[in-house]
Amino acid sequence: MADSPDQSEITLKGIPASEGIAYGRAFVFTQSDVEVPHYQVDAEKRIDEVARFDHALVLTRQQIAKIQAEVEENIGPEEARIFDAHLMVLEDQALITETIREFETTGLNIETCFNKISSRYIKAFSEIDDEYLRERASDIRDVAQRVLQNLLGQSDTSLSKLAGERIVVANDISPSDSAGLDRSTALAVVTDSGSRTSHAVIVARSMKVPAIVGMRDLTQRVRNGDWAIVDGYEGTVILNPTDSTLVRYGKIQEQKRNLEQQLMGANREPAVTLDGAKVALMANIEKVDEIRLVQDFNAEGVGLFRTEYLYLDSSRIPTEAEQTLAYRQVAAALAPNPVIIRTLDLGGDKPMAGNPHLFPKENNPFMGFRAIRFCLEHTDIFKDQLRAILAASAHGNIRLMYPMISGTEELARANALLDECKAELKARGTPFNAKLTVGTMIEIPSAAVTSDILAEKCGFFSIGTNDLIQYLLAIDRVNDRIAHLYEPTHPAVVRTLRQIIDAAHKKKINVSVCGEMAGDPVLVPLLLGLGVDALSMTPPLIPAVRFLIRGMKLGAAKKLADKALKLSDPKAIYALCAEFYREHMRLR
Ligand code: PEP
Ligand code: MG
Repeated sequence: MADSPDQSEITLKGIPASEGIAYGRAFVFTQSDVEVPHYQVDAEKRIDEVARFDHALVLTRQQIAKIQAEVEENIGPEEARIFDAHLMVLEDQALITETIREFETTGLNIETCFNKISSRYIKAFSEIDDEYLRERASDIRDVAQRVLQNLLGQSDTSLSKLAGERIVVANDISPSDSAGLDRSTALAVVTDSGSRTSHAVIVARSMKVPAIVGMRDLTQRVRNGDWAIVDGYEGTVILNPTDSTLVRYGKIQEQKRNLEQQLMGANREPAVTLDGAKVALMANIEKVDEIRLVQDFNAEGVGLFRTEYLYLDSSRIPTEAEQTLAYRQVAAALAPNPVIIRTLDLGGDKPMAGNPHLFPKENNPFMGFRAIRFCLEHTDIFKDQLRAILAASAHGNIRLMYPMISGTEELARANALLDECKAELKARGTPFNAKLTVGTMIEIPSAAVTSDILAEKCGFFSIGTNDLIQYLLAIDRVNDRIAHLYEPTHPAVVRTLRQIIDAAHKKKINVSVCGEMAGDPVLVPLLLGLGVDALSMTPPLIPAVRFLIRGMKLGAAKKLADKALKLSDPKAIYALCAEFYREHMRLR
């Protein structure tokens, strides 16, 4: 219930991105910022407070020096020099003495004082009309965050260490911040920008955390500690809810729980249509500990392992041995079911934090240095991963998949590196599956158009509709301003899907969909009608899709797809799918 009864209830609308309802206090998260407490320090404790500050500075210096040494050893001296600038920030006497002066004047806790002074520096530097000096702002920001984390005894990003259960409100959440989200404290995620397919949202969905994006200016309207309801079904945030609203939401929550129970009732049943067609329902995972989700939701293996999260989680390149262990754990736990390991898809909206030397800033990151393009340039990083996947393939049913392939040349170059890795493992005497199936994602229009040629050279296709739609319709998938134009039922999308599926089937290879479309029960009949063999989705979405499949006929879905292919209006195609869904999703 709201703390201040005089505050009136406000209802705000955004784009629903992950289902569920949450109620709790808000934490306004500014990119990678820690939650800074604000309190008065007793006079007799003031010496200790300054000592605490000194200690945090020393600790921060040690941490940065350690990272620098690791980078020097693993990447090179040039890259390690980047951290000299960070160490210089810590030596900056002006920053330190001004913080202490602020503390002596106000008597406020040292975190508040340091945050105030460092923010002033960051602002001043970021406004300078000189690129070099402007970049120092981000050095100060990084170091300041680290000092604050050390003062607060936090070792990781603040999202992994929320002060308690919180509704996280942010302008945006980077994939590396989202990697630190903790289900036990993050009640919901609400962002000013973003879209249903941004990676932070995908992570929230897999954690069953309600999420809303595209709230525009919520971070300006909400304060830390405000009470709020987040309705991830409708995309509504209610600030300072009244008692009657809380009662109403309590009832809605109960209805939703009943619905979930009904869906879970068929969880152990096979995904077979009424006319006997079997559909493989697989899981999209980002982390090794999601094995449990794959099992709980009875997925038939993993259709997409987004391995880049192993890199995003730690902000450093995992070693070959660490990767082998991770892939092997997943494969062994889920055998004999297949595990499709997608090679690294960093870049785009998933740059690695703290690695500007690997991911320089780009004007069009989604069209830039991403995924296979990055791997074919950083072959040392890529080959470490390929060897790790190969070594793990001796222990389960692993398949390998490349992201963002645009045509046969990239595929051939990636496969040539894979062959080199096989030879290296052979020379080492490390066992691997010599017949490892290799497939590719189809998510770039050029790959879709040439899918007949690619199908000759691939073991399978997996259609990444998140990117395919963004590139086909020229709609940046994380831009909330144009999110309404991101239409999976656009005729261009429907026709392209048909083309890819036909090309795959002509060459007798399997085709699955692993973009978010695969987990949307309204769109699933269209995909099945177009001929998709398997669907891979965030595990919590499986029960609704399974329930729907068990209540429909593939023959009817084929008719739906044929009708959709004849229509020219995305909204009309969507309406057709929605009608089919209503008729076949028979819930009590
Ligand atoms: C896709 O593009 O549909 C996909 C599954 O890959 P990602 O969302 O990781 O880009
Ligand atoms: Mg993609």
